[in-house]
Amino acid sequence: MESQESRSESFDLTFKLRISYLYPSLIIDPPRWRGTVTCNRMKQLRNLVDRKVLLERMHENGEDRTTVSFYRYAHIHNPTFFRDYLFLHWEDFGVLGRIYVAKEGINAQLSVPTKRFEEFKDHLYSISFLEGIRLNVTVDEGKSFFKLTVKVKEKIVADGLNDEAFDVCKTGVHLDAVSFNELTSNEDTILVDMRNHYESEVGHFRGAITPDADTFRDEIEMVEKMLQGKEDQNIVMYCTGGIRCEKASAWLKHRGFPNVHQLEGGIIEYTRQVRNQGLENRFVGKNFVFDERLSERITPDVISECHQCGTPCDDHTNCRNVGCNLLFIQCASCSEKHEGTCGTSCQEIIHMSEEEQRALRRGKKDSARIFNKGRLRDQYKP
Ligand SMILES: [Zn+2]
Ligand SMILES: [Zn+2]
Repeated sequence: MESQESRSESFDLTFKLRISYLYPSLIIDPPRWRGTVTCNRMKQLRNLVDRKVLLERMHENGEDRTTVSFYRYAHIHNPTFFRDYLFLHWEDFGVLGRIYVAKEGINAQLSVPTKRFEEFKDHLYSISFLEGIRLNVTVDEGKSFFKLTVKVKEKIVADGLNDEAFDVCKTGVHLDAVSFNELTSNEDTILVDMRNHYESEVGHFRGAITPDADTFRDEIEMVEKMLQGKEDQNIVMYCTGGIRCEKASAWLKHRGFPNVHQLEGGIIEYTRQVRNQGLENRFVGKNFVFDERLSERITPDVISECHQCGTPCDDHTNCRNVGCNLLFIQCASCSEKHEGTCGTSCQEIIHMSEEEQRALRRGKKDSARIFNKGRLRDQYKP
């Protein structure tokens, strides 16, 4: 910790002035951290090269780090200022990772030096709208970050919704695993999977409605239509980590469904609670996740089929033709037969020269459409 004296007085003053000037419009909920804002020294809001070198050395030294993620929808009136505030403070704790800040909230995936984790948590909780927020703490190493990036975004999750009209903070009732099991074992409860079809295809909760949606936006529209006339019933929704349900539940409430509930922390947190507390597990199959693993097995049940031959299979893969990259389910024997591609035309393409392949891709959008083409899967069946 640096002493009061070593601070850059001019910067500190400017910072305090900015705080007092900007604070009223920063967040609706008056932040309690106003009094604790101090800034140790003038820092640039970007990562300097020597810092990167330092961090690499730190990783080599095998310093213990804790991976943590969290999100919250909140009204942040000045995301740019909040971004600066977080960067200035968390960089001091040696925090690495990426944070998205938007007018609608915050979404963060971080790695914190384990020995400073409590300090970091205290600081996080001192921000009024993040007080007591549930943190997803990963014990395993996972992906390591080499720098801290804090970005101001339009949205904390790209959801394609025009949501000026409703309050994203007016969400449904949060459920833990115990109350989720209780409520969903009631026959009158409507359970909705808020994920896309390729996610629910390999695993979902027993009795859940799994809409055939390619995107979150489609999903929300389909679900709202499906629920027409069922306004009086209890609705329970879930997704992978809980963040999509925050928005979806607020939307449904806005559209006249008063009894909306959501699984807090999603399937990931549910699985953790079920395992730790020895509860009944109502999820079957695999949980689709958005990292290189593509999924995490929850139960041994295989509930889906290979898109090419129809044998039971729940292994997702991306077509080996980079210009296609279709996400689909492929068994080991089909993978061998089609060389990891989704069909004959892609198989032909991967045998072309790199130049020919590049010529074919020219002017075509590829990676951004990875997941949107899942619905085309029927055409690949023999
Ligand atoms: Zn197959
Ligand atoms: Zn393909």
